Amino acid sequence: MIYLDYQATTPLAPEAREAMLRWLDGPGGTGFGNPHSPHRYGRQAEAAVELARERVAALFPAGGRVIFTGTATEALNMALLGNAQARAGKAAAVSAIEHSAVYETAERLAGGMHVLQVGQDGLLTRINALPEGTGVVAVMQVNNEIGTIQPMTEVAELARRANAFLVCDAVQAAGRLPIAMADAIAISAHKLHGPKGIGALWLGEGVEIDPLVTGGGQEYGLRSGTLSPALIAGFGAAAKLAMERMEEDAAHVEALWHRARDLFDGWTLNGRADARWRGNLSLRKDGLDVARLMSEARNVAFSAGSACASGSGKPSRVLQAIGLPANLAKNTIRLGFGRYSTGEELEEAAAAINAAAQAQGA
Ligand code: PLP
Repeated sequence: MIYLDYQATTPLAPEAREAMLRWLDGPGGTGFGNPHSPHRYGRQAEAAVELARERVAALFPAGGRVIFTGTATEALNMALLGNAQARAGKAAAVSAIEHSAVYETAERLAGGMHVLQVGQDGLLTRINALPEGTGVVAVMQVNNEIGTIQPMTEVAELARRANAFLVCDAVQAAGRLPIAMADAIAISAHKLHGPKGIGALWLGEGVEIDPLVTGGGQEYGLRSGTLSPALIAGFGAAAKLAMERMEEDAAHVEALWHRARDLFDGWTLNGRADARWRGNLSLRKDGLDVARLMSEARNVAFSAGSACASGSGKPSRVLQAIGLPANLAKNTIRLGFGRYSTGEELEEAAAAINAAAQAQGA
């Protein structure tokens, strides 16, 4: 099998796996302690958590604090529902191409939601001011379906002028690019070669929110519940590695991108080629039956549009937001590659996918 679905999840880095094992000890070991216990077992686990917190914090802008969560979805819910502006009934302005973790959550806000439009290129349409009454802004740094990178500095300036709370979904940016500044930022370990089931919410200096989950008061009182030292240690190791390798990984992805563009030259690219994370190749072909293509090229693991939307039968909201009619949105495949992908894998995958598309006459 060839894995080309890096936006859905990434392979666990061997270094992250290694870092986790010690905290999965059974009887006879000392790594299974509760990090909130005062004895030695607990203190060891707590030290591992705090080391990982520093490593994860290094992914973010300087200052602020990292709160561990179960997923980025949870972190985004915390930020959107817990900030004072949303609680005061102000409206949210969110980009039309947000992940459903943001989109569906913002829709639940009492103050309602405005949608910020994007153009065909997958970038926010330039606006000078936010809709009247906006108290919260949510814009993602890198889109998961088409890879486009939003101008976060401009978005932050708009939010600042409106005195709005800015939430950034940096799930697809973390570990790949420097993360942009916002009031609250969410990331997920499994998108940067860490384990699944652990995410983080970063809050800027002085930023306060109300908790969604209350109980024992862990994580600054913002997210109660016993932490998982194993998952957190894996996240920390993955973050450290991503910081060390950021340039090398990006150069590798850039080289793969150029190779992939040649290999898929008969396809149309969704979203622009620059202002894009180039490990995301969202491609379409008129008349393509994607379900059939996926079954015929089953040795390649890739996605139809977005992993979340695929299987639902519904055309992707993101692809429609960039102006594709439902039929063209359904003709899209997404290939995602990264640190452990090779040029040979891309060649083999392209041969299988192109042959399957040609067999359909597409
Ligand atoms: N935001 C984006 C852009 C994503 O790609 C994903 C994962 O698919 C999420 C949020 C949700 O992350 P998690 O799986 O940690 O809940």
